[in-house]
Amino acid sequence: MADDTRLLYLEDEAHLCFEARVLAVQETAHGYAIILDRTGFFPEGGGQPSDTGTIGDVPIERVTLVDGVALHHCKRIPNLRAEDRVLGRVDTDRRHDLAQQHTAQHLISAVFYDRDDIATIGFHLGNEESTVDLDINPAHADAAYLDAMEFMVNARVWADKPVRIRTVDPRDTAALRGMPPEQLRGDIRIVVIDDDLDQTPCCGTHVRSTGQIGPILFTGTSTMRGNLRLAFLAGGRALKRMQTMRRRIERTSEVLGCSPEDLQNRVENLLRRADSAERNLRSATESLAECEARAVAESIRHRGFLQRRWEAEEVPDDSFAQMVGNRLPDKGRWIFLGGIREGDRYKITVLRSPDLAVDLGTRAKALLEPLGGRGGGPPDMLRGMIPASAWDELAQVLRGLGETHREG
Ligand SMILES: [Zn+2]
Repeated sequence: MADDTRLLYLEDEAHLCFEARVLAVQETAHGYAIILDRTGFFPEGGGQPSDTGTIGDVPIERVTLVDGVALHHCKRIPNLRAEDRVLGRVDTDRRHDLAQQHTAQHLISAVFYDRDDIATIGFHLGNEESTVDLDINPAHADAAYLDAMEFMVNARVWADKPVRIRTVDPRDTAALRGMPPEQLRGDIRIVVIDDDLDQTPCCGTHVRSTGQIGPILFTGTSTMRGNLRLAFLAGGRALKRMQTMRRRIERTSEVLGCSPEDLQNRVENLLRRADSAERNLRSATESLAECEARAVAESIRHRGFLQRRWEAEEVPDDSFAQMVGNRLPDKGRWIFLGGIREGDRYKITVLRSPDLAVDLGTRAKALLEPLGGRGGGPPDMLRGMIPASAWDELAQVLRGLGETHREG
Protein backbone atom coordinates (compact mmCIF):
# COMPACT_ATOMS: atom_id res chain seq x y z
CA MET A 1 0.00 0.00 0.00
CA ALA A 2 1.10 3.58 -0.64
CA ASP A 3 2.41 5.87 2.09
CA ASP A 4 -0.12 7.79 4.18
CA THR A 5 -1.72 10.68 2.32
CA ARG A 6 -0.73 14.08 3.68
CA LEU A 7 -4.03 15.57 4.88
CA LEU A 8 -3.77 19.30 4.24
CA TYR A 9 -6.95 20.20 6.07
CA LEU A 10 -5.34 19.05 9.31
CA GLU A 11 -2.64 21.70 8.81
CA ASP A 12 -4.94 24.43 7.51
CA GLU A 13 -8.60 24.04 6.66
CA ALA A 14 -8.25 26.82 4.06
CA HIS A 15 -6.36 24.51 1.63
CA LEU A 16 -9.35 24.26 -0.71
CA CYS A 17 -7.39 24.55 -3.96
CA PHE A 18 -4.18 22.53 -3.93
CA GLU A 19 -1.52 20.97 -6.12
CA ALA A 20 -0.64 17.30 -5.75
CA ARG A 21 1.12 14.39 -7.40
CA VAL A 22 -0.82 11.33 -8.57
CA LEU A 23 0.45 8.13 -6.94
CA ALA A 24 -2.02 5.66 -8.42
CA VAL A 25 -5.46 5.12 -9.98
CA GLN A 26 -7.36 2.08 -8.72
CA GLU A 27 -10.50 0.33 -9.91
CA THR A 28 -13.04 -0.08 -7.10
CA ALA A 29 -16.40 -1.82 -6.67
CA HIS A 30 -18.29 1.36 -7.69
CA GLY A 31 -15.89 3.03 -10.14
CA TYR A 32 -12.35 4.35 -9.69
CA ALA A 33 -10.25 5.93 -6.95
CA ILE A 34 -7.42 8.44 -7.36
CA ILE A 35 -4.59 8.35 -4.80
CA LEU A 36 -2.52 11.54 -4.35
CA ASP A 37 0.53 12.36 -2.24
CA ARG A 38 -1.44 15.16 -0.52
CA THR A 39 -5.06 16.28 -0.45
CA GLY A 40 -7.18 19.21 0.65
CA PHE A 41 -10.28 17.00 0.68
CA PHE A 42 -11.77 16.00 4.02
CA PRO A 43 -12.33 12.22 3.99
CA GLU A 44 -15.58 11.07 5.60
CA GLY A 45 -15.34 10.13 9.26
CA GLY A 46 -16.49 10.95 12.78
CA GLY A 47 -20.10 11.24 11.61
CA GLN A 48 -19.23 13.88 8.97
CA PRO A 49 -19.62 13.24 5.20
CA SER A 50 -16.60 13.88 2.98
CA ASP A 51 -15.90 16.87 0.77
CA THR A 52 -16.66 16.71 -2.95
CA GLY A 53 -15.01 18.65 -5.78
CA THR A 54 -12.68 18.00 -8.72
CA ILE A 55 -9.20 16.64 -9.41
CA GLY A 56 -8.14 18.04 -12.79
CA ASP A 57 -11.45 17.83 -14.65
CA VAL A 58 -12.60 14.67 -12.87
CA PRO A 59 -15.60 15.13 -10.51
CA ILE A 60 -14.88 13.60 -7.09
CA GLU A 61 -18.02 12.27 -5.45
CA ARG A 62 -16.68 10.98 -2.16
CA VAL A 63 -13.39 10.63 -0.30
CA THR A 64 -12.60 7.84 2.15
CA LEU A 65 -9.57 7.15 4.30
CA VAL A 66 -8.33 3.54 4.27
CA ASP A 67 -5.26 2.74 6.41
CA GLY A 68 -4.10 6.35 6.20
CA VAL A 69 -4.56 6.57 2.41
CA ALA A 70 -7.18 8.96 1.01
CA LEU A 71 -9.21 7.43 -1.85
CA HIS A 72 -10.81 10.06 -4.10
CA HIS A 73 -13.76 8.24 -5.65
CA CYS A 74 -14.98 9.01 -9.17
CA LYS A 75 -17.45 7.33 -11.54
CA ARG A 76 -15.58 7.40 -14.87
CA ILE A 77 -12.00 6.33 -15.51
CA PRO A 78 -9.72 9.36 -15.02
CA ASN A 79 -7.20 10.24 -17.72
CA LEU A 80 -4.37 10.34 -15.15
CA ARG A 81 -1.16 8.40 -14.58
CA ALA A 82 1.26 8.06 -11.71
CA GLU A 83 3.57 11.08 -11.34
CA ASP A 84 1.09 13.44 -13.12
CA ARG A 85 0.79 16.84 -11.41
CA VAL A 86 -2.85 17.78 -10.78
CA LEU A 87 -4.89 20.61 -9.33
CA GLY A 88 -7.51 19.65 -6.76
CA ARG A 89 -10.49 21.87 -5.95
CA VAL A 90 -12.80 21.30 -3.00
CA ASP A 91 -16.45 22.37 -3.41
CA THR A 92 -16.27 25.38 -1.08
CA ASP A 93 -20.04 25.84 -0.65
CA ARG A 94 -20.46 22.27 0.49
CA ARG A 95 -17.37 22.48 2.76
CA HIS A 96 -18.70 25.65 4.37
CA ASP A 97 -22.20 24.18 4.79
CA LEU A 98 -20.87 21.00 6.44
CA ALA A 99 -18.50 23.01 8.64
CA GLN A 100 -21.45 25.17 9.77
CA GLN A 101 -23.52 22.11 10.74
CA HIS A 102 -20.56 20.40 12.40
CA THR A 103 -19.37 23.43 14.39
CA ALA A 104 -22.99 24.09 15.42
CA GLN A 105 -23.03 20.60 16.92
CA HIS A 106 -19.88 21.40 18.97
CA LEU A 107 -21.57 24.54 20.24
CA ILE A 108 -24.91 22.89 21.07
CA SER A 109 -23.15 20.03 22.90
CA ALA A 110 -20.93 22.50 24.78
CA VAL A 111 -23.83 24.70 25.92
CA PHE A 112 -25.89 21.74 27.19
CA TYR A 113 -22.84 20.44 29.06
CA ASP A 114 -21.77 23.86 30.37
CA ARG A 115 -25.26 24.83 31.53
CA ASP A 116 -26.69 21.53 32.84
CA ASP A 117 -23.91 18.86 32.76
CA ILE A 118 -25.78 17.11 29.93
CA ALA A 119 -23.39 14.95 27.90
CA THR A 120 -23.62 14.33 24.15
CA ILE A 121 -23.83 10.62 23.36
CA GLY A 122 -24.35 10.68 19.61
CA PHE A 123 -24.26 12.92 16.57
CA HIS A 124 -25.41 12.59 12.99
CA LEU A 125 -24.78 15.11 10.23
CA GLY A 126 -27.65 14.64 7.78
CA ASN A 127 -28.31 15.74 4.22
CA GLU A 128 -30.89 18.10 5.62
CA GLU A 129 -31.31 18.12 9.37
CA SER A 130 -28.57 16.98 11.74
CA THR A 131 -29.14 15.49 15.19
CA VAL A 132 -27.44 15.47 18.59
CA ASP A 133 -28.34 12.76 21.12
CA LEU A 134 -28.27 14.23 24.62
CA ASP A 135 -28.16 12.34 27.91
CA ILE A 136 -31.40 13.80 29.28
CA ASN A 137 -34.86 12.34 29.77
CA PRO A 138 -37.02 13.90 27.00
CA ALA A 139 -39.76 14.52 29.60
CA HIS A 140 -37.43 17.04 31.28
CA ALA A 141 -36.89 19.03 28.10
CA ASP A 142 -40.12 20.96 27.50
CA ALA A 143 -40.62 23.69 24.89
CA ALA A 144 -39.71 26.52 27.27
CA TYR A 145 -36.43 24.81 28.25
CA LEU A 146 -35.49 24.12 24.62
CA ASP A 147 -36.35 27.70 23.62
CA ALA A 148 -34.05 28.98 26.36
CA MET A 149 -31.24 26.63 25.30
CA GLU A 150 -31.68 27.59 21.62
CA PHE A 151 -31.34 31.23 22.68
CA MET A 152 -28.18 30.53 24.69
CA VAL A 153 -26.61 28.62 21.78
CA ASN A 154 -27.33 31.52 19.40
CA ALA A 155 -25.95 34.03 21.92
CA ARG A 156 -22.62 32.14 21.66
CA VAL A 157 -22.83 32.60 17.88
CA TRP A 158 -23.33 36.38 18.24
CA ALA A 159 -20.37 36.53 20.63
CA ASP A 160 -18.29 35.50 17.58
CA LYS A 161 -15.60 33.63 19.51
CA PRO A 162 -12.66 32.03 17.68
CA VAL A 163 -12.65 28.31 16.88
CA ARG A 164 -9.04 27.10 17.26
CA ILE A 165 -7.30 23.83 16.60
CA ARG A 166 -4.73 22.75 19.19
CA THR A 167 -2.51 19.71 18.86
CA VAL A 168 -1.57 17.87 22.01
CA ASP A 169 0.79 15.06 22.90
CA PRO A 170 -1.13 11.82 23.43
CA ARG A 171 0.63 11.46 26.81
CA ASP A 172 -1.07 14.65 28.04
CA THR A 173 -3.71 12.72 29.93
CA ALA A 174 -5.27 15.81 31.51
CA ALA A 175 -6.09 17.25 28.10
CA LEU A 176 -7.44 13.97 26.81
CA ARG A 177 -9.79 13.00 29.60
CA GLY A 178 -12.64 10.86 28.34
CA MET A 179 -11.09 10.10 24.96
CA PRO A 180 -11.32 6.49 23.72
CA PRO A 181 -7.84 4.85 23.98
CA GLU A 182 -7.93 3.66 20.32
CA GLN A 183 -7.85 7.32 19.23
CA LEU A 184 -4.71 8.04 21.24
CA ARG A 185 -2.25 7.58 18.35
CA GLY A 186 0.10 10.28 17.15
CA ASP A 187 -0.67 13.91 17.92
CA ILE A 188 -4.25 14.55 18.90
CA ARG A 189 -6.24 17.38 17.36
CA ILE A 190 -8.33 19.31 19.85
CA VAL A 191 -10.97 21.78 18.72
CA VAL A 192 -11.19 24.71 21.11
CA ILE A 193 -14.17 27.05 21.07
CA ASP A 194 -14.28 30.20 23.16
CA ASP A 195 -11.22 29.07 25.19
CA ASP A 196 -12.97 27.42 28.10
CA LEU A 197 -16.39 26.59 26.62
CA ASP A 198 -15.46 23.55 24.52
CA GLN A 199 -12.32 21.46 24.06
CA THR A 200 -13.11 18.33 22.09
CA PRO A 201 -10.82 15.94 20.25
CA CYS A 202 -12.13 16.03 16.69
CA CYS A 203 -10.96 15.33 13.14
CA GLY A 204 -13.77 17.19 11.31
CA THR A 205 -13.85 20.53 9.50
CA HIS A 206 -14.92 23.72 11.29
CA VAL A 207 -15.64 27.37 10.65
CA ARG A 208 -13.06 29.84 12.07
CA SER A 209 -15.29 31.63 14.53
CA THR A 210 -18.71 30.97 16.02
CA GLY A 211 -20.16 33.93 14.10
CA GLN A 212 -19.55 32.05 10.84
CA ILE A 213 -21.98 29.31 11.94
CA GLY A 214 -24.88 31.71 11.35
CA PRO A 215 -28.32 31.09 12.93
CA ILE A 216 -28.90 27.78 14.72
CA LEU A 217 -32.48 26.54 14.66
CA PHE A 218 -33.79 23.64 16.77
CA THR A 219 -36.23 21.89 14.44
CA GLY A 220 -37.64 19.05 16.53
CA THR A 221 -37.10 16.38 19.15
CA SER A 222 -37.65 12.66 19.44
CA THR A 223 -36.77 9.92 21.91
CA MET A 224 -33.74 7.75 21.23
CA ARG A 225 -33.23 4.85 23.69
CA GLY A 226 -34.70 6.94 26.49
CA ASN A 227 -32.55 9.99 25.62
CA LEU A 228 -33.36 13.21 23.83
CA ARG A 229 -32.58 13.39 20.11
CA LEU A 230 -32.47 17.04 19.11
CA ALA A 231 -32.67 17.95 15.41
CA PHE A 232 -31.19 21.23 14.23
CA LEU A 233 -30.21 23.30 11.19
CA ALA A 234 -27.38 25.83 11.03
CA GLY A 235 -26.28 28.68 8.77
CA GLY A 236 -27.64 28.66 5.23
CA ARG A 237 -29.78 25.59 5.95
CA ALA A 238 -31.49 27.36 8.89
CA LEU A 239 -32.14 30.45 6.78
CA LYS A 240 -33.63 28.38 3.93
CA ARG A 241 -35.94 26.56 6.38
CA MET A 242 -37.15 29.86 7.85
CA GLN A 243 -37.82 31.22 4.35
CA THR A 244 -39.83 28.10 3.44
CA MET A 245 -41.83 28.38 6.67
CA ARG A 246 -42.47 32.09 6.10
CA ARG A 247 -43.77 31.41 2.58
CA ARG A 248 -46.00 28.61 3.88
CA ILE A 249 -47.46 30.88 6.56
CA GLU A 250 -48.00 33.71 4.08
CA ARG A 251 -49.72 31.39 1.60
CA THR A 252 -51.94 29.88 4.31
CA SER A 253 -52.88 33.35 5.60
CA GLU A 254 -53.76 34.37 2.05
CA VAL A 255 -56.01 31.32 1.57
CA LEU A 256 -57.75 31.94 4.91
CA GLY A 257 -58.00 35.70 4.31
CA CYS A 258 -56.29 36.83 7.50
CA SER A 259 -52.96 38.23 8.66
CA PRO A 260 -50.20 35.81 9.77
CA GLU A 261 -50.72 37.09 13.34
CA ASP A 262 -54.40 36.03 13.24
CA LEU A 263 -53.65 32.63 11.72
CA GLN A 264 -53.95 30.55 14.89
CA ASN A 265 -57.25 32.21 15.95
CA ARG A 266 -58.63 31.83 12.46
CA VAL A 267 -57.79 28.11 12.23
CA GLU A 268 -59.19 27.39 15.71
CA ASN A 269 -62.36 29.23 14.76
CA LEU A 270 -62.73 27.31 11.51
CA LEU A 271 -62.21 23.99 13.30
CA ARG A 272 -64.91 24.88 15.83
CA ARG A 273 -67.30 25.79 13.01
CA ALA A 274 -66.49 22.62 11.06
CA ASP A 275 -67.09 20.58 14.20
CA SER A 276 -70.46 22.18 14.83
CA ALA A 277 -71.45 21.86 11.13
CA GLU A 278 -70.57 18.18 11.25
CA ARG A 279 -72.69 17.67 14.38
CA ASN A 280 -75.63 19.44 12.73
CA LEU A 281 -75.26 17.40 9.57
CA ARG A 282 -75.16 14.17 11.57
CA SER A 283 -78.34 15.03 13.44
CA ALA A 284 -80.11 16.16 10.22
CA THR A 285 -79.06 12.90 8.52
CA GLU A 286 -80.44 10.87 11.40
CA SER A 287 -83.78 12.73 11.22
CA LEU A 288 -83.92 12.18 7.49
CA ALA A 289 -83.17 8.45 7.86
CA GLU A 290 -85.85 8.23 10.58
CA CYS A 291 -88.38 9.85 8.21
CA GLU A 292 -87.48 7.63 5.27
CA ALA A 293 -87.64 4.51 7.48
CA ARG A 294 -91.15 5.42 8.69
CA ALA A 295 -92.38 5.84 5.12
CA VAL A 296 -90.82 2.53 4.04
CA ALA A 297 -92.14 0.69 7.13
CA GLU A 298 -95.74 1.74 6.32
CA SER A 299 -95.78 -0.76 3.51
CA ILE A 300 -94.49 -3.74 5.54
CA ARG A 301 -98.00 -4.67 6.61
CA HIS A 302 -99.03 -5.04 2.98
CA ARG A 303 -95.92 -6.43 1.32
CA GLY A 304 -92.83 -8.25 2.53
CA PHE A 305 -90.51 -6.59 0.02
CA LEU A 306 -89.47 -2.97 0.35
CA GLN A 307 -87.35 -0.85 -1.93
CA ARG A 308 -86.10 2.70 -2.08
CA ARG A 309 -83.75 4.43 -4.52
CA TRP A 310 -81.94 7.75 -4.19
CA GLU A 311 -79.78 9.87 -6.47
CA ALA A 312 -76.29 10.35 -5.02
CA GLU A 313 -76.95 14.10 -4.52
CA GLU A 314 -80.01 13.39 -2.36
CA VAL A 315 -78.19 11.56 0.42
CA PRO A 316 -75.29 12.54 2.69
CA ASP A 317 -73.15 9.47 1.97
CA ASP A 318 -73.03 5.80 0.92
CA SER A 319 -74.11 4.52 4.33
CA PHE A 320 -77.50 6.23 4.14
CA ALA A 321 -79.36 3.18 2.76
CA GLN A 322 -78.03 1.15 5.66
CA MET A 323 -79.06 3.90 8.12
CA VAL A 324 -82.63 3.70 6.80
CA GLY A 325 -82.64 -0.12 6.87
CA ASN A 326 -81.40 -0.18 10.46
CA ARG A 327 -84.39 1.91 11.53
CA LEU A 328 -86.99 -0.56 10.15
CA PRO A 329 -88.96 -2.72 12.65
CA ASP A 330 -87.43 -6.00 13.92
CA LYS A 331 -90.44 -8.06 12.94
CA GLY A 332 -92.48 -8.41 9.76
CA ARG A 333 -90.40 -10.85 7.68
CA TRP A 334 -89.36 -8.20 5.20
CA ILE A 335 -86.47 -7.77 2.74
CA PHE A 336 -85.30 -4.23 2.05
CA LEU A 337 -83.41 -3.16 -1.08
CA GLY A 338 -81.87 0.31 -0.86
CA GLY A 339 -79.89 1.88 -3.74
CA ILE A 340 -77.86 5.02 -4.34
CA ARG A 341 -77.42 5.86 -7.99
CA GLU A 342 -74.00 6.86 -9.26
CA GLY A 343 -74.00 7.29 -13.04
CA ASP A 344 -75.15 4.04 -14.63
CA ARG A 345 -74.75 1.97 -11.46
CA TYR A 346 -76.42 1.50 -8.11
CA LYS A 347 -74.56 1.04 -4.88
CA ILE A 348 -76.92 -1.36 -3.15
CA THR A 349 -77.64 -2.42 0.43
CA VAL A 350 -79.94 -5.42 1.06
CA LEU A 351 -81.21 -6.01 4.61
CA ARG A 352 -83.76 -8.38 6.07
CA SER A 353 -85.71 -8.47 9.34
CA PRO A 354 -84.23 -10.74 12.06
CA ASP A 355 -87.31 -12.98 11.88
CA LEU A 356 -86.75 -13.89 8.22
CA ALA A 357 -84.42 -16.91 8.04
CA VAL A 358 -82.53 -16.21 4.84
CA ASP A 359 -78.73 -15.93 4.56
CA LEU A 360 -78.08 -12.94 2.29
CA GLY A 361 -74.28 -13.07 2.42
CA THR A 362 -73.92 -16.60 1.04
CA ARG A 363 -76.40 -15.83 -1.73
CA ALA A 364 -74.60 -12.65 -2.84
CA LYS A 365 -72.74 -14.24 -5.73
CA ALA A 366 -75.76 -16.17 -7.06
CA LEU A 367 -77.97 -13.07 -6.78
CA LEU A 368 -75.66 -10.45 -8.25
CA GLU A 369 -73.36 -12.08 -10.78
CA PRO A 370 -76.08 -13.01 -13.32
CA LEU A 371 -77.04 -9.31 -13.28
CA GLY A 372 -73.47 -8.12 -13.90
CA GLY A 373 -73.07 -6.98 -10.31
CA ARG A 374 -70.92 -7.95 -7.34
CA GLY A 375 -71.00 -7.79 -3.55
CA GLY A 376 -71.07 -9.72 -0.29
CA GLY A 377 -71.68 -9.51 3.42
CA PRO A 378 -72.85 -11.31 6.58
CA PRO A 379 -76.12 -13.34 6.73
CA ASP A 380 -78.33 -10.31 7.51
CA MET A 381 -76.83 -7.77 5.12
CA LEU A 382 -75.48 -7.59 1.61
CA ARG A 383 -73.66 -4.63 0.07
CA GLY A 384 -72.54 -4.32 -3.51
CA MET A 385 -72.95 -2.78 -6.90
CA ILE A 386 -75.23 -3.49 -9.87
CA PRO A 387 -75.78 -1.88 -13.29
CA ALA A 388 -78.68 0.61 -13.04
CA SER A 389 -80.57 -1.35 -15.72
CA ALA A 390 -80.64 -4.46 -13.46
CA TRP A 391 -82.56 -2.81 -10.62
CA ASP A 392 -86.02 -4.16 -11.51
CA GLU A 393 -84.71 -7.65 -12.07
CA LEU A 394 -82.93 -7.69 -8.69
CA ALA A 395 -86.07 -6.31 -7.01
CA GLN A 396 -88.12 -9.14 -8.55
CA VAL A 397 -85.67 -11.83 -7.43
CA LEU A 398 -85.56 -10.47 -3.87
CA ARG A 399 -89.35 -10.21 -3.75
CA GLY A 400 -89.56 -13.87 -4.75
CA LEU A 401 -86.95 -14.82 -2.14
CA GLY A 402 -88.92 -12.98 0.57
CA GLU A 403 -92.18 -14.63 -0.38
CA THR A 404 -90.67 -18.14 -0.36
CA HIS A 405 -89.30 -17.64 3.15
CA ARG A 406 -92.38 -15.89 4.55
CA GLU A 407 -94.40 -18.98 3.80
CA GLY A 408 -91.78 -21.28 5.40
ZN1 LIG B 1 -15.32 18.94 15.22
